[in-house]
Amino acid sequence: MVLLSLDAGAAERTDIPGSGAHAGTDQCPGAVVAHQAEDGGVVRIRVPGGTCSREVLAALADWSIELGNGRLELTARGNLQLRGLAPGAEEELATRLAAYGLLPSVAHDRARNVLASPLSGRDRMSVLDVRPLVAELDRRLCASPELAELSGRFLFALDDGRGDVAGMRADVAVMAMPGHWVALLLAGLDTGLRLPVHAAVSGMLMAASAFLRRRADHRVWRLAELPDGPLSLVGELAAELAEVTHAPELAVPEPDPRGPIGRIEETDGRVALAACVPLGELTPSRCRLLAAVAQREVVLTPWRGVVLPGLTRSAAGRAARRLAGAGLILDSGSPALGVSACTGRPGCAKAQADVRADASVALSVSTPEPLGLPEPLGLARQLPVHWSGCARRCGRPRGPAVDVVAMDEGYQVLRDDRLEYFGTEVAVVRIVAAHARRRW
Ligand code: SF4
Repeated sequence: MVLLSLDAGAAERTDIPGSGAHAGTDQCPGAVVAHQAEDGGVVRIRVPGGTCSREVLAALADWSIELGNGRLELTARGNLQLRGLAPGAEEELATRLAAYGLLPSVAHDRARNVLASPLSGRDRMSVLDVRPLVAELDRRLCASPELAELSGRFLFALDDGRGDVAGMRADVAVMAMPGHWVALLLAGLDTGLRLPVHAAVSGMLMAASAFLRRRADHRVWRLAELPDGPLSLVGELAAELAEVTHAPELAVPEPDPRGPIGRIEETDGRVALAACVPLGELTPSRCRLLAAVAQREVVLTPWRGVVLPGLTRSAAGRAARRLAGAGLILDSGSPALGVSACTGRPGCAKAQADVRADASVALSVSTPEPLGLPEPLGLARQLPVHWSGCARRCGRPRGPAVDVVAMDEGYQVLRDDRLEYFGTEVAVVRIVAAHARRRW
């Protein structure tokens, strides 16, 4: 039986404890301003749309070791995070990022949070290729001095019509519709406003500007926090936008908590390979491997995964074997899908345990079902599982989930805030969590 490693091992984080407190300033890290954690400086590198060249990935692997402690992570917004930077190292990092085009505007560093459908323009599910819109949005965002005021929490999203990111409650989003139109969404809600594709970015930027004008206080960071609600901007936007039409409300799809996985057929006869990075731990060696096997680029996804597009079938087969050998998940039946963890020890002073190490142990253990419970259902019907180092539960996914929360003497397993287990044996925690995540 494996015992909990309450003090052992390394931990990584993809969220910043304490930064959700609107009473203070936004502590969301950027590439230029590091967040000081227990294990050193943390910098977050925004990657609008998630697209990274092979060269950038290889360079990041080196930089994470030269400037940090070698910890390189994927975040829930498809961005990258380096940890363990010495004081002042972020200045050297910023110089290197700028040389690779990853820091087009220092002033807008933290505002460039842009999600996009990772397979856009590549497979049959794509109604619209949103990649040119991502580039336009990033360029025009950085050209607007006013929009540098957006907080590091503000999020844009461009859904190519398949419904994978529209439901992620971005502050401002568009979702492609048939006929070369997009629906404008605010805080995950349909505004009923429809724009031609060529006006999509203008509409998104106008919505962000309207939010900044409307908020009374700089401590309001998200559109959903407006006192009158996000849809209070609709009238103003409808009057401001040219070529806008109105349509019946759209049912915004709930996103699949797991994202794409495995081989995906592209429309040009090539293959995209989608893999999950367990707990978002994109180590330098995994980063170098991705750079080596990718055709040209790698798309980072908000499911803490990667997509390698444009591979031939034989290259995809070779790449899949190497990625699986490095611990990436390409099997849609893997129990590691939908499992996340906060920073835990040693990166967070509040943590009661090294939750990432314990979650990794739990994921690596193939335990039979000694409790006499039936086999878990297919993963598509399972809840996400989130491991937290304390009751704050940073980084927990929205909606129903199973929580594994470290206490001062063991772990609680909770489903719908109902206690399912409390104890110190991680193998039992794993089994209870595996069954608690079943949807009934
Ligand atoms: S230990 Fe607590 S405060 Fe620290 S990252 Fe985890 S949940 Fe947040």
